[in-house]
Formats: sequence, structure tokens, C-alpha cells
Amino acid sequence: MKCSSCGQDLDKKSVIFKCPACGKKDIARCSHCRKLSIKYQCLCGYEGP
Ligand SMILES: [Zn+2]
Ligand SMILES: [Zn+2]
Repeated sequence: MKCSSCGQDLDKKSVIFKCPACGKKDIARCSHCRKLSIKYQCLCGYEGP
């Protein structure tokens, strides 16, 4: 699985959670993107910090 924000492979500190808007898509974020609060976007159009 890859980070939804930067597309990099996930590392140990990555988090995976369901999209809060549609609840269907898994969002993955690497530690790098979490740290920098980089936005992610779900396929449903939801954008989050
Ligand atoms: Zn990332
Ligand atoms: Zn969604």
C-alpha cells in the first residue's frame, strides 16, 4: 500500500483509516505526510488535513 498523499511506500509510522466522508476508501498516510500535515484526497472528492 502507498501513501495517498505522496505516493510513497508506507513506513512503520504510517496510518491507514477509512475516508471520513464516504467510509469506503482506505486512506493511507506516511509519517512524512502526517508530520507536514499534507492534504489527502479521497476518490469521493473529500479532502482532509
Ligand atoms: Zn506521504
Ligand atoms: Zn471518500
